[in-house]
Amino acid sequence: MWKNMGLTGKIIIAMVLSIALGLFFNYSGLNVEGGFVNTYLTNGLFAIVGKLFVNSLKMLVVPLVLISLICGVCGIGDIRLLGRIGSKTFFMYMLTTALAIATAIGLGSIFGIGKGMNLPTTATFEAKEAPPLIDVFSNIIPSNPISSMANGDMLSIIFFAILVGVSILMVGKPAKGLVQSLELINEVILKMVTIIMNLAPYGVFALLAKAMADLGLDLIVSLLGYVAVLVGSLAFHFFVTMMIILKLFSGLSIKTFLTKMKEVQIFAFSTSSSNATIPITLRTVTKRMGVNNSVASFTVPFGATINMDGTAIMQGTATIFIANLYGIDLGITQYLTVILMSVLASIGTAGVPGVGLIMLSMVFAQVGLPIEGIGLILGVDRLLDMLRTAVNVGGDAAVTTIVAKSENKMDIAVYNDPDAGTKDVFDAHIDPDNERELSNIMNDGVLGSEYDELKKA
Ligand code: ASP
Repeated sequence: MWKNMGLTGKIIIAMVLSIALGLFFNYSGLNVEGGFVNTYLTNGLFAIVGKLFVNSLKMLVVPLVLISLICGVCGIGDIRLLGRIGSKTFFMYMLTTALAIATAIGLGSIFGIGKGMNLPTTATFEAKEAPPLIDVFSNIIPSNPISSMANGDMLSIIFFAILVGVSILMVGKPAKGLVQSLELINEVILKMVTIIMNLAPYGVFALLAKAMADLGLDLIVSLLGYVAVLVGSLAFHFFVTMMIILKLFSGLSIKTFLTKMKEVQIFAFSTSSSNATIPITLRTVTKRMGVNNSVASFTVPFGATINMDGTAIMQGTATIFIANLYGIDLGITQYLTVILMSVLASIGTAGVPGVGLIMLSMVFAQVGLPIEGIGLILGVDRLLDMLRTAVNVGGDAAVTTIVAKSENKMDIAVYNDPDAGTKDVFDAHIDPDNERELSNIMNDGVLGSEYDELKKA
């Protein structure tokens, strides 16, 4: 039965089972340090399989973004269009982030979370330095593109890729062979994404079983008000605000969007990283939703770096919560500062696990809230990071679809086809004829028939 099941079904089953198993380990006390479960399963097998899975996703991020974006720019055909897509995307990302944080501040204020609570600080929070905004902007042009790629600096990689693409367009016809080769490399990398997607049920299982066994849900109960408002705001923003925006701006079916996003969001939930999820997001919007690569190859990595609606919501909720807890009254200017700071902070930081807290300390410093306050929410943050990352990638995909639709860079038939882009995930096999032909080329110098024909032509 498992064998014939669709990939999404498998991933969902893995998710449910792993959460149940992890919580069982946590509550039964089996996950105590030094015990068998803790040593060999949570910190052994699950830790290794989870790390392998996340590594295999991260492995593809830089090559995929670089190559697909070069191809994307070449495929756009009109350089002015690139500027228009860029500004539209930027505007939509900023707008949705600001709406997200406003929702959080609104709901947090209505429910008065944190008022009259008396919480002992259990953990201390050491604020890590966030990169100064000036550095973020000046580093967009990399002094050394190879080191930017090695560090995964997404904005520099995006800049470099766009420049390469534009230069290829300027070289024009003689670069045709290069473009075709890059297209092929892009297809090869997307095949690698397909292979890794097939391993997702096991990776997701390992990651979630470990997270749940280690964290449990106890802390959530002690911070129930904060968690409830945060989760409510996340759900409201994604399912209501974003879906209204999607419908209004694109007219596309909300149900189809949500169904096709399921896998991406489970990946984001289990890895807590928008960056590591880029390959899946990109594959889903192009192959399953029909967005043209010329739009998606730019909007997806750009969004993973600068667009974090879920993280902005956490910042809004945390600001209200900590301010109420410490009895500090925030005025309208401070709320506006929080909105502005969160939007700016999201530009300057990459979508990796836990980065939201670093951004939060920037916001707190700006409005004069005690940074130690962050220690209070530290315990639940790891779990909430999972949820907000799912909302972050949801926003990236929604804006991508809206921009692509508005630019007519979308295949609506693919969007509406429920099975689009699922076939090669299910039978990721190597065709024996292809295998023979390619191995002949490599081993005996016997060229494939297609190449002979090309030569004759
Ligand atoms: N983990 C989040 C992301 O990758 C960022 C954060 O909120 O910490 O999008």
